[in-house]
Amino acid sequence: MKKLPFFIPMQSCPNRCIYCDQWAITGHTNDVTAEKVLSEIKKSEEPVEICFFGGSFTCLPPKVRSNLLDAASKAPKGSRIRISTHPSCIDEDIICELGRYNVYAVELGISSLDDRVLAACRRGYTSDVALKKLRMLISAGFVVGAQLMMGLPYQDTESSIRDLEKLCKIKGPSSMQIRLYPCLVFPKTELFSLWINGQFTPLSTERCINQAARILLSAENMGFEILRIGLHETDSLRESVAAGPSHPALGELIRSEALTEKLNKINPRGPWVVSAKHRSLLSGHSKRGIKSLAHKTGITESDVLERIIWW
Ligand code: SF4
Repeated sequence: MKKLPFFIPMQSCPNRCIYCDQWAITGHTNDVTAEKVLSEIKKSEEPVEICFFGGSFTCLPPKVRSNLLDAASKAPKGSRIRISTHPSCIDEDIICELGRYNVYAVELGISSLDDRVLAACRRGYTSDVALKKLRMLISAGFVVGAQLMMGLPYQDTESSIRDLEKLCKIKGPSSMQIRLYPCLVFPKTELFSLWINGQFTPLSTERCINQAARILLSAENMGFEILRIGLHETDSLRESVAAGPSHPALGELIRSEALTEKLNKINPRGPWVVSAKHRSLLSGHSKRGIKSLAHKTGITESDVLERIIWW
């Protein structure tokens, strides 16, 4: 279904997280109005997924929220609404309101489920609170998503995998969607000062790729649905980012690394049967995947190529 995204950067956030500059990330300002939503909806005759991203939708004042949801409800029959929001702004009343508007999916920006990481980032809640809010949303029947980050202060691969295990316990056999974003350093944030003062070191692109590949494989093994890895590259993001793993094809590079990890684990000497739809993951970006598989297996690049059977 076609997506119709609206970004509401940092409006009504309960607090300012140390790394956040949503205006820089999204390149959008706070100018989403019900009228704007309606005029975009009118352009489509097919069902659309209207997405309210970029902040804390349910933290908005009730009138602003209901105006936006009223407008979204006018979309063609079969359309659906997706919101992303902050765990502190989910309670029974909000859940009833989202239910009344038939909201389809709710994504919670939880960043991490490690209390040390959450406190350092000034997220304003503990892991228990985030898990409780996710449980409430699951019981209410929404499609639920968790937005996680990597490379935050005190965060490492192991803590990210522990986060997934906690999420896995509460989702059980049902599905849960995941987005995984790298922590980048933007000017005018507290993290920027920490970085300048040598108190924070962002992940390098290569380290981020390796960490994220492990997290991705764990998430797939636990049955999560991966919606996105890496931020959507915008001009604004490219121009604003001061440090950290910013790369226009980060998601693709991570998926490539995860695939080579998987192939090496399954059969360290090959041959490997690989779907042709994954060809670019191995051959793209100057054959990064082939090189990585050669490095992992100790086989030459040309031998790796010979041992791949495309289907
Ligand atoms: S990370 Fe989310 S909750 Fe924190 S300031 Fe940014 S938009 Fe608000």
